[in-house]
Order: sequence, then C-alpha cells, then structure tokens
Amino acid sequence: MSDASRASGPILRLQDVKRGFGAGATRIEVILGASLEVARGEMVAMIGPSGSGKSTLLHICGLLEPAEAGRIEIAGHDAAAMSESERTAVRRMTIGFVYQYHHLLPEFSALENIVIPQMIAGTRRRVAEARARELLGQVGLSQRERHRPAELSGGEQQRVAIARALANKPALLLADEPTGNLDPHTAGDVFALLARLVHELGLAALIATHNLDLAARMDRIITIRDGELGRA
Ligand code: ADP
Ligand code: MG
Repeated sequence: MSDASRASGPILRLQDVKRGFGAGATRIEVILGASLEVARGEMVAMIGPSGSGKSTLLHICGLLEPAEAGRIEIAGHDAAAMSESERTAVRRMTIGFVYQYHHLLPEFSALENIVIPQMIAGTRRRVAEARARELLGQVGLSQRERHRPAELSGGEQQRVAIARALANKPALLLADEPTGNLDPHTAGDVFALLARLVHELGLAALIATHNLDLAARMDRIITIRDGELGRA
C-alpha cells in the first residue's frame, strides 16, 4: 500500500456510497449517495447537523464499517477488493484517525501512546521511540513525553492523539470533531497545528466539525444534510 499511496490521483475517492441502518419499519437511510474526492495536501471540512451522518461517513472512509453500495478507494485501491487482512493493514498504515475524545491509553505515557501503534504495525521499539519523539516535537510536546493523559491538558491530549494518528505515516487523515471538546482558544491552536501538519506532510484530510470558523479556514467545505453531500 505504501507504493500505491505515492501514486497520482486522489487519496480518498467515494463514488455513490450508500448506507442506512436497520431493516423494515425501523430502517433509516443515512447516506443516500455520497461522491467525494480528497487529494494529497487537501484539508476538507465536513459540516452538517447532528445526526446527519458525518461520523458514519468517516467510519466508511476509514474502512471501519462497510458501505451498502458504491465504491470506496483509498490511494487508488478499491476497498471492496481488499481481503480482511489488507483492510486491517490499510487502516493501520494508510489511515490516521483523530476523534473528539482523545482515546489515549490512560495507563501509558504520551510517548508510549505513540510507540504502541507503531509496534502493533511491526516497527521495532527503538525506531518507534525515535519516531514518537520526532512527532512529540512536531506537536510541541517534547517536554511531556513521560506524562500520562490525565496529567495533560485537553489541548495537549489532543496533540498527542494527533501525533499518534500520524505515527505510521498515513496518507489519509480522518478526524471527527477533533476540537469539539476544547475551549475556543485551544481549539484554534489545535486546528492550526492540524492544518500545518496536513499541508507540510501532504496528507489528504477529511475533518467533521461543528466549528464554522475553523471550517472556513480549510481548503474546501462539503455539507451533509438529508443524506446528500453538497458544497458550502
Ligand atoms: P453525526 O456524526 O452527523 O452526528 P452519525 O453518523 O453519528 O451522525 O449518525 C447518523 C444517523 O445514523 C443517526 O440517525 C444515527 O442515529 C444513525 N446511526 C449511526 N450509527 C448507527 C448504528 N450503528 N445503528 C443504527 N443507527 C445508527
Ligand atoms: Mg458524529
């Protein structure tokens, strides 16, 4: 996949993706036919009301849950053609996730939280630690490597979560309201960090947010409403 992620073309491509939940009388249609491309180095905001399907669409893009119809390509590879082990490898190596809540492992230090996903992906400890230190430097937390999540502020926790998401050098970054738990000032700082990293590293990023000020600072905004994607 790392070879493919260097190929030309969009990193994320959705074509007429559909997804609903349930069956019969309790069936709800959530995504009615989503088509979208996100290129390398492009930071796309996804805005829409609560319950409009932002998280559902991010989970589909992240190969965490299947679409019911349509095509999903990650770095040119058709998700439907991947075996389960290939999907797992793509999730680990090609896609980074940041959530509203940091989901760091509470009993481990900031450094270990960035080392562990690399070791799960097969990286040796010595290399993983060097990479984790480099990332902590990039997110401005070199002085916090031994701190556990509970010893960090909300903004610092989210910076560690961003560093962790980048640990395996993904091509695609998916974020679900990454600043939603932060005060406005901290949200602005964390957003600026995210934007700098996306552009410096040439990531494709799709970021769900309720924060219209931050959405306006991204490269492009897509809206999601009544199951349809649109342009803001
Ligand atoms: P958003 O992130 O925009 O708030 P979600 O993607 O979380 O929206 O949810 C969209 C709709 O899909 C909501 O009506 C939600 O209740 C429904 N939904 C999401 N996940 C499931 C699920 N696993 N089972 C049933 N309904 C779900
Ligand atoms: Mg959501």
